[in-house]
Amino acid sequence: MIKPSKPDNEAQRLLALQRYQILDTPQERSFDDLVTIATALCGTRMGAVTLVDQDRQWFKARQQLDACETHRDISFCAHAILTPDQVMVVEDARSDPRFSDNPVVVDDPHVRFYAGAPLLSVEGLPLGTLCVFDAAPGHLDSSQLLALTALSRQVSLVMELRRYAHEIQQHMTDRAWYEQRLAEYNELLEQQNADLAEQSRTDPLTGLPNRRAMSAALEAAVRDADGQPRATAVALLDIDHFKTVNDLYGHATGDHVLSELARLLRAHFAGHGLAARYGGEEFVVLMPDTPLATAELQCDFLRMAVADLPLGLPLTISTGVAAHRHGDAIEQTLARADAALYRAKGEGRNRVIRAD
Ligand code: GH3
Ligand code: MG
Ligand code: MG
Repeated sequence: MIKPSKPDNEAQRLLALQRYQILDTPQERSFDDLVTIATALCGTRMGAVTLVDQDRQWFKARQQLDACETHRDISFCAHAILTPDQVMVVEDARSDPRFSDNPVVVDDPHVRFYAGAPLLSVEGLPLGTLCVFDAAPGHLDSSQLLALTALSRQVSLVMELRRYAHEIQQHMTDRAWYEQRLAEYNELLEQQNADLAEQSRTDPLTGLPNRRAMSAALEAAVRDADGQPRATAVALLDIDHFKTVNDLYGHATGDHVLSELARLLRAHFAGHGLAARYGGEEFVVLMPDTPLATAELQCDFLRMAVADLPLGLPLTISTGVAAHRHGDAIEQTLARADAALYRAKGEGRNRVIRAD
């Protein structure tokens, strides 16, 4: 027996074969069909699509053959790929010194006749063969040789199409994966943007809307959906002698007082007003659809509730309240409320003063 030598371009050939990702894959009908046609055309009992790997030949399709692979040393096809541009025909293996004592000749399946047409990659590298063989010696006429060669080209074509199909599938999977990641990042970004927008409208200490958020709400509150003016009242309130609270009890207690007052404001005006931190120890309350007298009363109830807060220290607030006048800018209303607040301070604090 003469062991098959390796082609000069063996390394390239193996790389090309790997690119098809076909070794050790399940049987596929299209390859089986081509083997069936080849054996019928050539009048043999056995046939195969073999791929010549580094040390073995592996059968992608096989007819009347038990093994799924054999060692390369005893492979007929490993010889056939040495002449990639022609069909290798062995009419009687027993009288061929390359194969006479080959185990597949001496033992099962007792091969005598063999014809193998090389399967070429797109670059022209031989990957294996479409082969037919039989336990009896045989011969192929010229039309059978042509047909077997044509069929081997079909096998190569199926391999190529199969590779494209896999590449496209891989591409689609990758694309779906990237699109999924992109969607996740976008969602995260939107969430972060929403958080940032929320943060830019909220006072971190009290959780109340800040001055900026209140300005937008004020603009919206003085007009209804049809642009008609609404009876809106605005109150500005300021903690009395808050500096003393900080000085006597510490800044942390001061912060706690601010938070508790914010909580009270939220509860007190829930449903009929919006409270915001205007700055420092000053708060603003927007009361839509509220006549001035009602607003004043609400603020006075609030004043009493503040005095009753169980803080362990005396706390009072002064308040200026103003009705928004149709045609005025919001700033003018706030200025009038501020002037009323100033008067409340001047008149002894812990009181509500209505703007003129
Ligand atoms: P008035 O009755 O005239 O309003 O006296 P006041 O002491 O409340 O007013 P003043 O403007 O002199 O002082 C306000 C104080 O509020 C000073 C400042 O340190 C304190 N303050 C402002 N913001 C905060 C805060 O976020 N936390 C704490 N703990 N104190 C604050
Ligand atoms: Mg103040
Ligand atoms: Mg104050």
